[in-house]
Amino acid sequence: MKLTPSLNRSLWVFHLNTGSCNVCEIEIVAAITPRYDPERFGIKLVGSPRHADVLLVTGPVPKKNKERVLRIFEQTPDPKVVICCGTCGESGGVYYDSYSLAGPIDDVIPVDVYIAGCPPRPEAILHGIWKAIEKLERLEKEVA
Ligand code: SF4
Repeated sequence: MKLTPSLNRSLWVFHLNTGSCNVCEIEIVAAITPRYDPERFGIKLVGSPRHADVLLVTGPVPKKNKERVLRIFEQTPDPKVVICCGTCGESGGVYYDSYSLAGPIDDVIPVDVYIAGCPPRPEAILHGIWKAIEKLERLEKEVA
């Protein structure tokens, strides 16, 4: 992993729990503690998708949440990157084929980066966010 970010601004992340069991959230909280200190790279969580560069999404998407997930995706300004954090968001995981699921996250919104694990470790989450920085750099070069 590169240790010096080449983006010339900070990266703001909105965390969206679409229906996870909350253990992925515990690992996300661990990843933003001073032990890992992502703010040294300008990475921090924000409280609104309207302020975010990145959507960090956990859990599969239940049918009752599908419209909300779409709305939050549309509220996030472009260019943006979507990260799927955890096995449930990738495939449905332990909720696979449940009657109440609309599907994994990429059945509802496009996903750019996948972080494997149930739950992923904090290092894997930070690595996924780093991949999002690389994707944003590519998107910004295309726009420029
Ligand atoms: S991937 Fe595992 S830890 Fe994360 S929400 Fe699903 S069951 Fe929970």
